[in-house]
Amino acid sequence: MSETSKPLNFLEQIISQDLEAGKHQTVTTRFPPEPNGYLHIGHAKSICLNFGLAERFGGRCNLRFDDTNPAKEDQEYVESIVRDVEWLGFKWDGDIRYASSYFEQFYQWALHLIQEGKAYVCHLDAEQTKEYRGWATKPGKDSPYRDRSVEENLVEFEKMRAGEYEEGACVLRAKIDMASPNMNMRDPMLYRIRKQSHHQTGDKWCIYPTYDFAHGQEDAIEGISHSICTLEFADHRPLYEWFIENLPVPSQPKQYEFARLELNYTVTSKRKLKQLVDEGFVDGWDDPRMPTISGLRRRGVSPAAVRHFCDLIGVTKSASTIDVATLEHAIRDDLNNVAPRAMCVLDPLLITVTNFDEVANDGHELVDGVAQMLQPVHPNDESRGERRLPFTQTLYIDRADFNEDSSLSRKKFKRLVAGEYVRLRGSYVIKAEDIIKDETGEITELKVSLVPGTVGNNPPEGIRPRGVIHWVSASHNVDCEVRLYDRLFNDEAPDAGDKNFLDFINPDSLSIISGAKAELSLADAEPEQAYQFEREGYFCLDAKHSEADKPVFNRTIGLKDNWANKV
Ligand code: ATP
Ligand code: MG
Repeated sequence: MSETSKPLNFLEQIISQDLEAGKHQTVTTRFPPEPNGYLHIGHAKSICLNFGLAERFGGRCNLRFDDTNPAKEDQEYVESIVRDVEWLGFKWDGDIRYASSYFEQFYQWALHLIQEGKAYVCHLDAEQTKEYRGWATKPGKDSPYRDRSVEENLVEFEKMRAGEYEEGACVLRAKIDMASPNMNMRDPMLYRIRKQSHHQTGDKWCIYPTYDFAHGQEDAIEGISHSICTLEFADHRPLYEWFIENLPVPSQPKQYEFARLELNYTVTSKRKLKQLVDEGFVDGWDDPRMPTISGLRRRGVSPAAVRHFCDLIGVTKSASTIDVATLEHAIRDDLNNVAPRAMCVLDPLLITVTNFDEVANDGHELVDGVAQMLQPVHPNDESRGERRLPFTQTLYIDRADFNEDSSLSRKKFKRLVAGEYVRLRGSYVIKAEDIIKDETGEITELKVSLVPGTVGNNPPEGIRPRGVIHWVSASHNVDCEVRLYDRLFNDEAPDAGDKNFLDFINPDSLSIISGAKAELSLADAEPEQAYQFEREGYFCLDAKHSEADKPVFNRTIGLKDNWANKV
């Protein structure tokens, strides 16, 4: 049991009461994705919830593909979902399950309803069906096919199954109540014709059950005790219960609803995410700007950060929107604790140390013109050891860390200015002596002098460095590309109302920087291993575009929240 000090959420309360009352001996939940896209951060909430409840109460959680609509599903999605759930750190009970493996049973149960006079084959077309259905305040009317005999329905349903009808020619409907105030109870559809190959069952079937007819029965077959879904299914609950009551199912699952995760600045509809991929707005489902689990992963977010975020936001019954900054904080917190430090100069400016000979006089061993400076791998954890930083006569600092204007106040500009001092992280205090420019006036090089004796020591009285900046050897470094990501949308609610989310894509959501220079420890970087590039943010090696001689680093997240200051 984890986090026992936290108050129970409403589902935990229900489950513990059910267990106490002996209603169930053990809790069984499931995570039931439809394999029609990659999982996103909203699914992570559902995964953490379902697997988390099973863990907390010593029960089981199934992974079940709700694969009842072959038109939109694909094996690629099945595989990505399995990968993502595993990556998040959860283990399902037994084998992976597929709704499609219950198709024969669903078919038998459809026959059962027909035989009981509770289902019929209806030939109204889509438009007529809509018209007959009425609307919330207007009762529907009975379909002319509603009172067919059991025998006729059995023959017609068999013809549907045998492929004798075209798609859309007819459907099987439950016979419930066309005047029900709940539209879902107005003779809902149970089966429709889809002449499509299915990724699991091939061409065995040309009729497929609807979500409503399949879901509760899948739960019943698997002995699910608590079937947890999002709020929009609350209106379907009476129908869920109607099937469980009217079919000889092996167990009695119950449906509970919770509020889905909505994040601002984010789109989490699989259909829309697919559109971003298909229309080339992003570099695949795992583009680091995508809110998909694979995107977060490629960006350098850890499974622990995702789980921590899901824990932070909690589980409630009322819908609300979470600030994406909450997710960003969770990511930053996690990385600050785990990420080793490294230095990488994104926009290199060459500096030459004119009195480099002092390094040897200072007692540092020089091998082929290289002295070694030492820095901790992590400032708060000595046990992680030290990294060696080659210090050479020519170095790079970031162009943004130098300014010619020495009248800039010390408070405003805590970096290097002409004629003044700055400390190179973990190394010497240096002074900017000469500025070298090309014919266009652009600074091409700085001549600097080092202050002897300042490695690990304060400079002598009278020398006041403005601050500490990062650097890297100009001859001993890793040449790399750096990709800076920002939020994919620049609107808080890009798909609210009738807005078109494509109109709000942030044009600055990706900037690619080539020719960055990183310290040598980054030559061993592996994808998903996060680093803090000092003063720049958290980065990890990109799994897709890196090459042996040209690594690509993705910025997972900046050190600070820059959006908080934007108006
Ligand atoms: P989408 O709207 O993105 O297409 P979906 O609900 O159709 O999602 P499913 O594959 O059916 O996707 O979802 C699997 C499970 O994940 C369901 O139980 C669903 O309720 C849950 N889920 C989906 N989106 C969210 C979300 N934003 N927050 C919480 N749970 C979610
Ligand atoms: Mg769904």
